[in-house]
Amino acid sequence: GDQPARRRTPKIQVCIRKRPIDAREMSNKNFDIVTTATERFPYAHVYIHEPKVSVDMTRGVNTHKFMFDNVFDDTSTNEQVHAETTAGLVRNLFRGGRVTLFAYGQTGSGKTHTIFGTKSTPGIYEYACRDIFEHLASPAIARKQLALHVAFFEIYGGRVFDLFSDRRRIQLLEDSRGSVQLVGHAEYRVETMAEMLSLVKLGSELRTTGTTEANSQSSRSHAIIRMELRAPDGSLYAKFSLVDLAGSERGADTGNISRQARMEGSEINKSLLALKECIRALHRQTTLSLAPGQHAGGASDAHAGHIPFRASKLTQILRDSFIGRRSQTVMIAMISPVSASAEHSLNTLRYADRVKEF
Ligand code: ADP
Ligand code: MG
Repeated sequence: GDQPARRRTPKIQVCIRKRPIDAREMSNKNFDIVTTATERFPYAHVYIHEPKVSVDMTRGVNTHKFMFDNVFDDTSTNEQVHAETTAGLVRNLFRGGRVTLFAYGQTGSGKTHTIFGTKSTPGIYEYACRDIFEHLASPAIARKQLALHVAFFEIYGGRVFDLFSDRRRIQLLEDSRGSVQLVGHAEYRVETMAEMLSLVKLGSELRTTGTTEANSQSSRSHAIIRMELRAPDGSLYAKFSLVDLAGSERGADTGNISRQARMEGSEINKSLLALKECIRALHRQTTLSLAPGQHAGGASDAHAGHIPFRASKLTQILRDSFIGRRSQTVMIAMISPVSASAEHSLNTLRYADRVKEF
């Protein structure tokens, strides 16, 4: 039978990361409107000092305060972010976990910097992979002979494209529960860190080629790098998804724009909304399943019908990683500290606030 429920790491953790203001922004009459209090107990705080011009044209400031599980300030490094987020997910991975990390935020807020890094800074995926290889080499785990398989794809306009195969469209198979499986996509068995790095470089380059930064494909699509650990008989042991979400500003009502841009915007809006609703439904379910007399052990598949996974391809694809007691999710909401982004940052904080558990 099931073990009684125990207090453990929250199933869903929501963190904020504030990126540093850059030199160009400094010289452009922008100022930093975000202050952070990063102590971890009771909860980390973010204050956003939203500049306001009132009807009589006097300037004022509205200060908004938010609390999260963790706040990374503008001096934080990817290595520190990894230590507090992906490192724990990797530990759970080796207990057979279904773990997911989301980077949320407007374009330019630091999602890609955090997950994939830059030429000079490794991203958290790289730190996570180094941990994975270390675990795989340890005697206790080596005995299980797990193999690491990697796929890399993007979701754009409700369709899925393979970042390992020149953006070829990937077919999806939907089952009766509303879960979708990818079929016929490229997937690699990876045995060394060097292989992993070159594969991810390949896919990342495909994501950004042929577009200007402001309107790049990468701001309009969700990119998912998925790592699976498989047993020698081919069965799935654990799954780790890192998701670089589409720019959250894309979902906003942008007024007089092209039909194409409106379609993209509403598709992104739909998926980010679905993601939020699914996570909130999971919170409710976890609370319910821990009620006295109830079957302990978190959201079981039998209850998963109440969660609106079908509302977007993103949530359909991640469905299996959300349900079940071995699932664990971290969302890092990225914010730019500049005054010109006040509204987007506030929207991001509000979204993240709705996603968190407490
Ligand atoms: P997004 O993927 O959310 O659109 P990026 O990750 O591309 O944003 O970040 C925009 C710019 O800001 C990039 O030049 C990136 O290197 C820089 N940047 C983002 N976060 C940080 C950070 N924490 N420290 C230093 N530079 C950062
Ligand atoms: Mg990006």
